[in-house]
Amino acid sequence: MNKTMLFLGTLVVITTCVSCRSISNKERNSILDADENTPFDILQTTNPTDSLFLRRKAKNIKRVNRIAHHATWQHFFKRLRKTLDQAEGVGLAAPQVSIGRNVFLFMRIDKPGRPVEIAINPRIVSHSDETVCFERDGCLSIPDRSGNSRRYEWVEVEYYTEKGEKIREKLSGTSRQTDFTGVIFQHEYDHLQGILFVDKLCD
Ligand SMILES: [Zn+2]
Repeated sequence: MNKTMLFLGTLVVITTCVSCRSISNKERNSILDADENTPFDILQTTNPTDSLFLRRKAKNIKRVNRIAHHATWQHFFKRLRKTLDQAEGVGLAAPQVSIGRNVFLFMRIDKPGRPVEIAINPRIVSHSDETVCFERDGCLSIPDRSGNSRRYEWVEVEYYTEKGEKIREKLSGTSRQTDFTGVIFQHEYDHLQGILFVDKLCD
């Protein structure tokens, strides 16, 4: 009886530890295989294996309230920033660098100095009824291609920062001439669902 209970107890502990782990060994290895100043390779739709990965749905990062103290995730965020910086893009999602998690970088065209911010476990909680055909969308994972994409005029969003703070805000901007922060957020959010801008082309 005691042995059975001990066995069951051990099983519960093991099961709990596996399900509460916020990062897999495979993710940890690929994140820590280089220092924080080393950019990741960006997956390309022209490569069949990359293309399949880009079509997968990403998963939430667990225990976001402790993200500020999670060395591996913080290392990942730094390398992701380095990758976007080097590619001179305005947004980059984790699945584009082989990490199937709900996190992306997006440039705040709506803020002075255009800082790049991070969105962890983002959600679009509401959006405009109206859509626009955004001009010349493009993607760091789709070489030599641009096209107009169908986007909401505004989105109300929720996400966590790398410090674990919860943000809720309304993002708009659909014009390349002035502000298109709302479109960048939508484009990156789509990546987490395995959706690419070429799925949303319009005239
Ligand atoms: Zn993209």
